[in-house]
Amino acid sequence: MRRDDVLIGGSWRPVSSTTDVVNPADGSVVGTTALATRHDVDAAVAAAGSALPAWSELAPGERAAHLDRLVEVLESDAERLVDLTVAEVGAPITTARRWHVHAALDVLRSAADHARLLADERRGSAVLLRRATGVAALVTPWNYPLFQLATKLGPALAAGCTAVHKPSELTPLSAYAVAEAALVAGLPAGVLNLVPGTGADVGAPLVAHPGVDVVSFTGSTEVGRQVAGAAVTNLARVSLELGGKSSSIVTDDVDLEHAVRATVESCMLNSGQTCSALTRLLVPADRLDDAVRIAGAHADAMVVGDPTDPGTELGPLVSAAQLERVDELVAAAVARGAHVATRRTETPAVGHYRRPVVLSGLAPDDPASCEEIFGPVLVVHGTRDDDDAVTLANATRYGLSGAVWCDDDDRAFAIAARLQTGQVLVNDAEFSVESPFGGWKHSGFGRELGPEALHEFTELTTVQR
Ligand code: NAD
Repeated sequence: MRRDDVLIGGSWRPVSSTTDVVNPADGSVVGTTALATRHDVDAAVAAAGSALPAWSELAPGERAAHLDRLVEVLESDAERLVDLTVAEVGAPITTARRWHVHAALDVLRSAADHARLLADERRGSAVLLRRATGVAALVTPWNYPLFQLATKLGPALAAGCTAVHKPSELTPLSAYAVAEAALVAGLPAGVLNLVPGTGADVGAPLVAHPGVDVVSFTGSTEVGRQVAGAAVTNLARVSLELGGKSSSIVTDDVDLEHAVRATVESCMLNSGQTCSALTRLLVPADRLDDAVRIAGAHADAMVVGDPTDPGTELGPLVSAAQLERVDELVAAAVARGAHVATRRTETPAVGHYRRPVVLSGLAPDDPASCEEIFGPVLVVHGTRDDDDAVTLANATRYGLSGAVWCDDDDRAFAIAARLQTGQVLVNDAEFSVESPFGGWKHSGFGRELGPEALHEFTELTTVQR
């Protein structure tokens, strides 16, 4: 893909600067895309503002029909989206197909369904009108570029907002594909505007723009803090989906092998670059040695390599910088006395590859156990009992996800209900695009998915009668 333009008000406008998009598996250039400027941001916000009255006044069902058409166009091009995702993220093709592309289409379908259900609410004699907040700034990261755009764009458009999207500079290809699809699908001009570029040149001016009414950001906790500050200056609404360090709690009664293997797989999904990954495994102390052995063996058996091969389970990390960061964090943990339960270290000669690693023997408050690493690294701890497991799980600054493995439903539910986190998966329960997703504490605030996602893009007007 060769693009030197931004989408503003329904037209592609050339810009003077571009950047190369590099395939993390082999270093090849897989695309060239525009680097927008703050002037493009001004124009994009103005275009979204101009499109807002007509779009927000459409009946919710009409907006849903537009989203349906967008899904149809994207679906007809789904395999190209898979290829773009593999090329720009390095995601293994099976992960790209299921969790990047088809999950994103499910999110957009779900947003259309929830648009159809939008209705005024009666409360006594009052009527509560739920109305579009206005122009939405959508800022997305590189780890699931298409999925994260869908979780913002779907509900924003469903709610009647118009949008300006700033994708990660590392992964703008799928954003172009969505913008192209929006034109083919006949989305009115200015409803979706695309301004790719860096965080400093495009992201920062966008989230601080006085013409933006709501900011939806997914990314690191550090940048999220700056984004929230900028949005608050304008009293724009803001929702933040940030980092995580999620615990998988295994109780004394459950099939250890199954629980540990499933935790390893969650941790390593998307080559360990998943915000909700289960990266801390908490097992009863008398099962610790077995758990470490099972986790190490399972991680060692995982297939690391060419992301275009359907048999591959982990591709490369997204960039040299990300690989270096992960390597340094693992080396520092080992220097502090971590025991490495995985034996294999060999990787393909070219590309930002790293084999998965399982660490144990660390203090629960060790940085490797409490801070997000965002790579294929699992940390295992022993616990005294359920209370201790809950205390350990809650003892990080994050609160995005978690899991409980337990044969007793009531006990599992009781543990889940004490976790300070936005989502808990019990046993083999699957993530659902119908359920609200978001963080506690430094994992952010606000919710994506389900009807709650639309609420992030609406204001209430109470009409007292
Ligand atoms: P990042 O915070 O570096 O960047 C995210 C986006 O913000 C990018 O588009 C970037 O260009 C932009 N940006 C950078 N500086 C900005 C600024 N000052 N103002 C506005 N925008 C700016 O994150 P990343 O490295 O792209 O993504 C990885 C992080 O995202 C991880 O911490 C991960 O946990 C988190 N994440 C969270 C979720 C979630 O739902 N909670 C989902 C995926 C990723």
